[in-house]
Amino acid sequence: MLLREVDYAKPASVADALAILAANDGARALAGGQTLVNVMKARAASPDALVDLNGLDELKGVELAADGTLTIGAMTTYSEIVASAEAKARPILGEVCAMIADVQVRNRGTIGGNVCSNDPTNHLPPLMVATGARMTILGAAGEREVPASEFFLGVYLTAVGPGELLTKITIPAGRGDGFAAVTLGVDGTCIVNAAASVTGGAVRVAVGCVDATPVLLEPASAEADAVSEAVSAANLMPPSDVHASSEYRVHLAEVLAVRAAAEAAERAGG
Ligand SMILES: Cc1cc2nc3c(=O)[nH]c(=O)nc-3n(C[C@H](O)[C@H](O)[C@H](O)COP(=O)(O)OP(=O)(O)OC[C@H]3O[C@@H](n4cnc5c(N)ncnc54)[C@H](O)[C@@H]3O)c2cc1C
Repeated sequence: MLLREVDYAKPASVADALAILAANDGARALAGGQTLVNVMKARAASPDALVDLNGLDELKGVELAADGTLTIGAMTTYSEIVASAEAKARPILGEVCAMIADVQVRNRGTIGGNVCSNDPTNHLPPLMVATGARMTILGAAGEREVPASEFFLGVYLTAVGPGELLTKITIPAGRGDGFAAVTLGVDGTCIVNAAASVTGGAVRVAVGCVDATPVLLEPASAEADAVSEAVSAANLMPPSDVHASSEYRVHLAEVLAVRAAAEAAERAGG
């Protein structure tokens, strides 16, 4: 289906992008367009104007600090993360980005667009929650940092408010990570996914596709029994659809959380 007529701006700076967004309630940021353009074609969204962020180098790139902290610009594509030598400091990032869809989507889709769309079946929201990522949001009122565990507010809803942009994501140092998913076909949409991180004695597991936002579990250990117990205590009530019943999703949540935690613990060396 063709797009409805829409205004288009390609600002030369983040400040200009924010000014356009602030001046027009109906304007939306355009990143890779891999979700937004599709929902516009389906008439599920019809912004008055698109503010194309693709010319903004300020929002691109991966930086590695001496202490291992990674800072990833919101407009960095999945392919750029996969290819980045710096991003290999936290190898799970490139590994999960390489699982998303196909090469066309990976070449256009961005880390910022993935988390800002907060489609509950996306790969990156649970990974950001498990790794303890922090999201930097910029608007007229200035800059603020929100932990990933508080960033995802509902289906297609995040802490990024009207007239604001996600500018970068900061991911602390660490290598003890795991990810597991059951997808629709190879590299397809997730039916359930789980990301896990083990840092010192702390275990964080975030389960995706079972609620509007990733469900964070903090089991006592990465042992299978402890992770199963944490999943059970979360009383998950995922929706049923043509792909999986609610009961099957709960079953997958446990299996995948245990698998992701075991991988994380092994990589953490514990
Ligand atoms: C065939 C296909 C299969 C896919 N399969 C998967 C999959 O298996 N797993 C997966 O995770 N994803 C999948 N996707 C979605 C894909 O990863 C998208 O790239 C992603 O969801 C959105 O990123 P984007 O850069 O394309 O953002 P866009 O589509 O441009 O934007 C998405 C939303 O985020 C907002 N936004 C974007 N950037 C910012 C910013 N910096 N600040 C504030 N708001 C912003 C936009 O206004 C829009 O509302 C698939 C897409 C396609 C087309």
